[in-house]
Amino acid sequence: MGTLLKVTDLHKTYPNGVHALRGVSFEVQQGEFLVVIGLSGSGKSTLMRCLNRLQDPSRGEINFAGSDIMALKSTDQIRSLRRKIGMIFQQFNLIPRQSVLKNVLMGVLGGKKTLPSILGLFSDEEMAEALGNLKLVGIAEKAHLRADQLSGGQKQRVAIARALMQKPELLLADEPVASLDPATCHVVMDYLKKINQELGITVIANLHFLSLVRQYASRVIALKDGEIVFTGRPEEITREWFQKIYGEGAQDVTPDSL
Ligand code: ADP
Repeated sequence: MGTLLKVTDLHKTYPNGVHALRGVSFEVQQGEFLVVIGLSGSGKSTLMRCLNRLQDPSRGEINFAGSDIMALKSTDQIRSLRRKIGMIFQQFNLIPRQSVLKNVLMGVLGGKKTLPSILGLFSDEEMAEALGNLKLVGIAEKAHLRADQLSGGQKQRVAIARALMQKPELLLADEPVASLDPATCHVVMDYLKKINQELGITVIANLHFLSLVRQYASRVIALKDGEIVFTGRPEEITREWFQKIYGEGAQDVTPDSL
C-alpha cells in the first residue's frame, strides 16, 4: 500500500472564465474507495477529468503512480496514462448498435495503435478476458446482445467490464449511478465495491446520495465552489457538515426514499 495519487493546489479555469477548481489538494492511497460529493456545479466532474487529462488543468500538480502527469505532453504519453486510469460515465458511453462483447473489447483499443485495432481484430486471449470481465460483473449471458437492448444498470456493468480490460490501477466513476433507479444503484455500486476489494483497484467516484456515500466510501471529500471543504470518513459527515456542504435547508434525499 502507498500513495497512488497526490493532487496539489490544482486550479482549472475554463476559457469562458469559470474558475471551476480553486486550489484543490488531496491524496489517495492505493486500494481506497474515495467518494467526491458536493452540489451540482461544485467542480466534481472537472476534477475527475483533470485526473486523466481529459481536461487540462490550469495549474497545480498531479502525481499519479510516481509520475508527474502535468508534465505529459505527447499523445503517446497521455494515452499511456489513460491506460492506467479507467473511467465510467453517467451515460455509460457504449456503442449502442454493437454487441456487449464488442463494447467490452473496445476497452483494449486504447492500448493498441496497430492495424489489428483499426480492423477491430482481437486475440483469443482478449476474447476470453472480455468474457471473464463480463462474468465478473454478472452479465456474461448478455455477451451477444446488442448494447442498446440492455437496461441502464446492465449498461453500466458493461462499461465497468470495458474499463477492466485496461487493467487499470485507478477507476474514475463520474456519477456512475445518477441515471439509474434506486434498486439498480445498489447493484452497480456493489460491483464497483467488488472490483475495489477483490481486484484491489482504487476507485474515485462522484456520488449524489449521501446514503450511498455512507455505504460504499472508505473516505470522502466534499467540494464547494471549487474548493475542498471536508475530508474524512463517511460517518464523520454530521448534519452540521451536511449543511455546510450542501447549504442550509438541504435535505438528504436518499435513493431508498424516492
Ligand atoms: P459538478 O461535476 O460538481 O456538477 P462541474 O465540474 O461539471 O461540476 O462544473 C464546475 C463549474 O465549471 C460549473 O460552474 C460549470 O458550469 C463549469 N464548467 C464545467 N464544464 C465546463 C466547460 N466545458 N466550459 C465552461 N465551463 C464549464
